[in-house]
Amino acid sequence: MNEFDLIATYFRSLTQGRPEAAGLEDDAAVFRIPAGHELVVTSDTLNAGTHFPHGEAPALIAHKALRANLSDLAAMGATPYAYQLCIAFPQKPDENWAQDFTAALLADQDEFGLFCSGGDTSVTQGPLSISITAFGLTPEGKAVRRCGARPNDAIVLTGPVGDAFLGLQMVKGALDDAGSESFLAAYRKPVPRTALAGLLQAHAHAAIDISDGLAADLAHLCHASNLSAHVRLNEIRFSEAAEKLIKRKKVAPMNLITGGDDYELLLAIAPENEKIVLEALSAIGLRPQSIGRFTQGAAEAVFLDDQGMAIPFGQGGYRHF
Ligand code: ADP
Ligand code: MG
Repeated sequence: MNEFDLIATYFRSLTQGRPEAAGLEDDAAVFRIPAGHELVVTSDTLNAGTHFPHGEAPALIAHKALRANLSDLAAMGATPYAYQLCIAFPQKPDENWAQDFTAALLADQDEFGLFCSGGDTSVTQGPLSISITAFGLTPEGKAVRRCGARPNDAIVLTGPVGDAFLGLQMVKGALDDAGSESFLAAYRKPVPRTALAGLLQAHAHAAIDISDGLAADLAHLCHASNLSAHVRLNEIRFSEAAEKLIKRKKVAPMNLITGGDDYELLLAIAPENEKIVLEALSAIGLRPQSIGRFTQGAAEAVFLDDQGMAIPFGQGGYRHF
C-alpha cells in the first residue's frame, strides 16, 4: 500500500463527502466560515515513545490524538467543525493498522460532529508521529479565554480529577486495581467536553482544560487572569473509585491533582451563576464541583492542607522540558 492508496482507500472516507475537503484531490481545503462566527484553531502532536507506547493499538492512538484537540476546542467554548490529520510513518503502515485507525477516527467524528478536511502523509527516520489541527466555531466574540476570570468567581470543575493519572499508573503496571475500568477509560478514551460549548459561551468568564493536571492548569488560569486561587485539598472530591484508593493509601490526593491527562474543564463562573451552572452540568450526567474562588492577589494557585497551610510544590504539572 503506497501513500496514495492509503489516502484514497482510508483517509478519503474521513471527509464524509464534505465539499470543503474536495475528496482530498486538491492541494488544500477551502472553508467558508458561517456569517457571524469565528474560527478557533488548535494543534496537538502525539509521538510514539513519548505520548503513547511503541506498538500501541491504532484505535487508541486515533482517539487520543483527536480528543486531545477536541478538549482544547471545548476549553474555548468552541463547537468542533473539522480537522487536518498529519502523520509521519517510520515504516509503511499495514492495512489492519490503517483500517483500525480510520475506523476509530470515524467513530469519533460521528460522536463529536466533525470531519477530516485534509492532512499530510510523510515518512520519518524517527518514531510514528500523529499531528492533528482542529477547527472549531464560536459566535463572534464568544470564545472563552483563560484571561477572563474575575475576583470572587467560583472555580468550577466539570468532573472529578485524577482518574486518568490512575489509568496511566495501571498501564505502567504501577497500580494493580482489578475492576477499575473507569481509570483505564479515563486515560485511553477521555471525553472532551465539547457538549458544553453553549454553557461556556453563556456563563464562563474563563476556562481551561486540565490536561496538564489541576494544579498546573489552575495556576495557568490564575496567571492569565492575574488572580489568585486558594483551594482546600480536603474539599476536592475525587471519583468514588479514586476515593477508595485514597482510603487504602494507594494514592495521595496530591498525586491526583498534579497528574495530567484529565479532560475535564476548569471554569470561572460569576457567583450569581454558580448554582445554575452546577445544576446544568449535573443534569447532563456530569459530577461537577465548586472548589474555591478566585481572589485578588499574587497570580498563583495555592493548595491548602488540613491546617490551612499552603502545600509547597513546584510547577505541579507535567512539563516536556
Ligand atoms: P502535497 O504533495 O501537496 O503535500 P499530498 O499528497 O500530501 O499533497 O496531499 C494530497 C491530498 O491528500 C491533500 O488534499 C491532503 O489534504 C490529503 N492528505 C494527505 N495526507 C493526508 C492525511 N494523512 N489525512 C488526510 N488527508 C491527507
Ligand atoms: Mg503533503
